[in-house]
Amino acid sequence: MAHIFCVANQKGGVGKTTTSVNLAAALHQAGQRTLLVDLDPQGNATMGSAIDKRKLNRSIYHLLVGLAGLLAVRTVSPAGGYDILPANRDLAGAEIELVNLERREKRLREALAECADDYDFVIIDCPPSLSLLSINGLCAAHGVIIPMQCEYYALEGLADLVNSIKKVHAKLNRDLKIIGLLRVMFDPRVTLQQQVSAQLEGRFGDKVFSTLVPRNVRLAEAPSHGLPGVVYDPSSRGAQAYFAFAAELIERVRAF
Ligand code: ADP
Ligand code: MG
Repeated sequence: MAHIFCVANQKGGVGKTTTSVNLAAALHQAGQRTLLVDLDPQGNATMGSAIDKRKLNRSIYHLLVGLAGLLAVRTVSPAGGYDILPANRDLAGAEIELVNLERREKRLREALAECADDYDFVIIDCPPSLSLLSINGLCAAHGVIIPMQCEYYALEGLADLVNSIKKVHAKLNRDLKIIGLLRVMFDPRVTLQQQVSAQLEGRFGDKVFSTLVPRNVRLAEAPSHGLPGVVYDPSSRGAQAYFAFAAELIERVRAF
C-alpha cells in the first residue's frame, strides 16, 4: 500500500509545486514507485514534469468528475521517470461541478484506491486554497507535508492550515496527520529566517523536517527547461536538499 502525502499550504508561491516535483523525482531515483498528482488548475507540476498541459486529451479533471478512468489519465513524466496524473485549466471547472456530485470530497480518494498497490509513494500537489480540490487532496492522504518559508507571517498562515487539517481529520479522514513542516527557500544569512526557523523547532519539535531547502536559483530555473531541479542540476545545493529530504521521508515512514 502506498503512502499518500499531500503537499499543502493555502498560501501561493511557498514552494508546494517545487517540493512536489522534486520529491517525486528524488523518490523515483531512490527506487521508490512514485505517482505525482497535480491537483492545481495552474498545471505547474504537469509542466515541470515535461508534460504539455495544453495538449492533454484527458486530465485529472476527467477522473474527478467521472468522465475517464485512471488508466486513461495516468501517464509517465519523461523528465522525472515517475507516473503522473496531470492537470490543466479544465480542473478549475471541477471545483463547480463537484459540488453537485455525490461524495464530492472523496472523489480523489476513491480514484487512488484503484492504484494504491502500484506505488510506494503518492505525492499530491495541492492548489493554494482551502477549496474543494484541496479537501479532496486532504481526504485522499495519510499525511500532510507543509512547505513553508521562515517569514514573520508564516506562523499565522500555519494556524489556519492546521485548523483545516483538524476539521478534515474529525469529519472526513481519521487517517490524516501532519507528517512534517519543511523549511524551504531558506537563507541562513537572514537573521529573521533563523529566528523563525528556531521558533518552529521549539514549537513543533520533531514535526519539523531536519532537511532545510535553501533558496537556490537552479531550482527556480529548472521548470523553464521542463525539468525537475534534481534532474536539471543534480549537484546543485537545491537538488541535494531534495535528495536528502526524500531520504528523510523514506526513513520517517519506516518508523511509522
Ligand atoms: P507554490 O506551488 O506553493 O505556488 P512554487 O513551488 O511554484 O510555489 O514556487 C514559487 C516560486 O518560487 C517559483 O518561481 C519557484 O521556482 C520558486 N522557488 C521554489 N522553491 C525555491 C527555492 N528553494 N529556491 C529558489 N526558488 C524557489
Ligand atoms: Mg503550485
